[in-house]
Amino acid sequence: MDIKNLQRENIKNLRPYSTARDEYKGQASVFLDANENSFGSPLPENFNRYPDPLQLDLKDAISKIKGVPIENTFLGNGSDEAIDLLFRAFCNPGKDNVIILPPTYGMYEVSANINDVEIRKVNLLPNFQLDLEGIAEAIDANTKLIFICSPNNPTGNSIIRTDIETVLANFNGLVIIDEAYINFAKQRTFIQELTEYPQLVVLQTFSKAWGLAGLRLGMAFASSITIDILNKVKAPYNISQSTQDLALAALQNIGQVNEWIKITVAERELLSKQLLELPMIRKVYPSDANFILAEVDDANGTYDALVEQGIIVRNRAKITLCEGCLRITVGTPAENSILLSALKSLKP
Ligand SMILES: *Cc1c(COP(=O)(O)O)cnc(C)c1O
Repeated sequence: MDIKNLQRENIKNLRPYSTARDEYKGQASVFLDANENSFGSPLPENFNRYPDPLQLDLKDAISKIKGVPIENTFLGNGSDEAIDLLFRAFCNPGKDNVIILPPTYGMYEVSANINDVEIRKVNLLPNFQLDLEGIAEAIDANTKLIFICSPNNPTGNSIIRTDIETVLANFNGLVIIDEAYINFAKQRTFIQELTEYPQLVVLQTFSKAWGLAGLRLGMAFASSITIDILNKVKAPYNISQSTQDLALAALQNIGQVNEWIKITVAERELLSKQLLELPMIRKVYPSDANFILAEVDDANGTYDALVEQGIIVRNRAKITLCEGCLRITVGTPAENSILLSALKSLKP
């Protein structure tokens, strides 16, 4: 399978923007090549220089944690940037199509619509696993991308590994596995399988377990050919200097992050059990993520009543296969007990 032939013709022929720092590499002390402010910046940190377009120091630090080489790593302004770039680099508007597997993360569909790319929806089965036959039927010669979210948002379950492998073995486009919640899962990541599957793209993010949703930093791991294509299409300085500095500092605190993951997983199990004891809760789906999908007697009414008390959950009642469900993020122990007391206080 040839990734180079999968990209759009205009992208294949694109001569990317060449930054001042791309044109000169080496030792120098006087930089008069990028029209920066040579005096400095009005901040204590020196933000007057353009940041490294390829974020090599940060990627090096990430590589040490993930065990994925730098040339297989792309960094974006959130994973959402990688999702959008995949559409822009590989999908011809008005001609190509992508497959998404509802109920799932909303950005795949929004990005497809922004880029005028046809969406083929193959619903998950009632057990929230892949409909492999349906996926096989939906694929045609213009299918470029299949998005598999595992653990899936909003259902919380991991997708069966062998099913994902079946898709990887039988599809000649890119298979994107969105692992935003992988840190909370029992399931193994797919980032170790990149050498086996050239068409594999794994998305991870600093927004969830790492506690850096406000920073906007996402990762895509893929074959070096795919990574080169994404780098060619992205904005030259897509990750700011402050994001690169702060992410590097955050990576030093992996101990704290692992501690939070452990607590979150323990709280998830506790909260699931406590929710199930409430008469209004019909079902609590098993979760491999940092949230719980729960079916309640009156989802809209419960949602509104919680809002009244200043507690916001996500109302998924109108989503296919999630009828009557609320998606509840696992909070701190204190937040979770506030939620439980609020639910207990609601009139039946
Ligand atoms: C939250 C989430 C993301 C994260 O997106 P960022 O742009 O990195 O914040 C990606 N995928 C899924 C499925 C998510 O739920």
